[in-house]
Amino acid sequence: MKTEIKNFIDREHILSILKESKEPCAKEIREILKKSLEASQALEPSEAAKLMRVKSPDLWEEIFSAAAALKKKIYDNRIVTFAPLYASNLCVNNCLYCGFRTGNSQAVRRKLSLEEIEKETRVLCGEIGHKRLIFVVGEHPSTGADYIASALKKIYSVKVKTKLGFGQIRRVNVNAAPMSVEDLKKIKEAGIGTYQVFQETYDEELYSKLHPAGTPKSDFLWRLYCHHRAFEAGIDDVALGALFGLGDWRFEILGLLTHARELEKVFKIGPHTVSFPRLEKACGSKIGENKISGQDFKKIVALLRLSVPYAGLIVTAREKPETIRSVIPFCTQRDASTKIGIGAYSHVYNKQELEKQQFELGDTRSLDEVIGELADMGYITSFCTSGYRCGRTGDHIMKLLKSGGESRFCKLNAILTFREWLDDFASEKTKEKGEKLIEKEIKEVMEQGERFGAETKKTLCVYYERIKKGERDLCF
Ligand code: SAM
Ligand code: SF4
Repeated sequence: MKTEIKNFIDREHILSILKESKEPCAKEIREILKKSLEASQALEPSEAAKLMRVKSPDLWEEIFSAAAALKKKIYDNRIVTFAPLYASNLCVNNCLYCGFRTGNSQAVRRKLSLEEIEKETRVLCGEIGHKRLIFVVGEHPSTGADYIASALKKIYSVKVKTKLGFGQIRRVNVNAAPMSVEDLKKIKEAGIGTYQVFQETYDEELYSKLHPAGTPKSDFLWRLYCHHRAFEAGIDDVALGALFGLGDWRFEILGLLTHARELEKVFKIGPHTVSFPRLEKACGSKIGENKISGQDFKKIVALLRLSVPYAGLIVTAREKPETIRSVIPFCTQRDASTKIGIGAYSHVYNKQELEKQQFELGDTRSLDEVIGELADMGYITSFCTSGYRCGRTGDHIMKLLKSGGESRFCKLNAILTFREWLDDFASEKTKEKGEKLIEKEIKEVMEQGERFGAETKKTLCVYYERIKKGERDLCF
């Protein structure tokens, strides 16, 4: 299909929606929340804008509760964890907010070799216990599709013996520059999970101020259509995001929503995940920290949850622990044990160099600590990557998510993969908490006759026992 390239983000239309100031009544808001809870499709921008105009604190509490209930309905009480692997900070762009930009003379430039990527992977999957990574690079001729494809193959090839089984990365998502269909086919062939590119800001005027002319990133439309190209290349899990704090957050939510609806319209598949990084102060950047308050951030995440009901939402360690706790009920994924210095997991370079990284992290706690905290809050950590490997991607997973069917798989696979992690990597303290949680989860499955059939329950028990004996990667 030949795509007509035009800016589908209608700036004037979004600005006119945002200009409206009439506060909607409670009845209108509740109708929108009901539509969202049905989860079948993204909201209309005008509906999302109504939610934004709510002033009553009580009504906001209803919005937060609906967002949490929606998350539970679609994904159950599981949180998937992952880690970023920053492989190179070489970059030809000059994004004013980023520590990797070419004009930042303070940055020490590094690009990991395949051997160094292997070292990083060994720590991530063999010592910490991650199963899922996001591979991140700046934009540079030496870290294009060929480099990324070789890196993916290297990462998937690493297998490390653990206490009871073995550790291996089962899913590598990629956050890299927009690419051509031809290049995207190369990374598809190497086994990419989700292709993640953030538009940064959907306001084209602001975009041109932040991305100097003459750099590849200054091409707003090339970036806006990279997910379309990914679909053309056969990658059917794509991820959207905006860098919150650059412009008006309300505009960005409507931009993200319009983008999601465009993908739904053209490809019948919306974004697999949506990210909402908040701007952090970066090394050598004059652009300060974002000015979005914690309360507004909570509103942003709840509104995204309700606006694009089927999409996974990712909160990152850019945020402080208390901020993450406030939005985790609406989210599906978070990172932990995160390091963003190039080669930082395996100490490829010295500490001083690493300090000159892309931006500053808010949550530097270990995966073990994070999992313990999630367990205290009643969330089971899932290392599940099975959806992709069992063909539950693209429109297949969209249908399951929209119908609420995916939450069954989420629950079962969370139990199995959590068991693996507890036996291989948990500290005594976290293991104790994890055991209690797993017992509760299994009990819930056994008691839910309608949701889980007898055969499923039997398979769960068989798989669970086999995993306890050291077998790995059994899933639904
Ligand atoms: N170079 C690729 C690109 O720009 O799409 C991918 C790598 S870039 C490091 C990944 C993301 O980091 C960007 O899309 C941007 O949203 C985010 N980022 C850049 N500077 C940031 C900052 N100061 N605070 C928070 N996130 C930032
Ligand atoms: Fe380079 Fe991406 Fe940073 Fe821009 S955001 S300077 S493209 S790494």
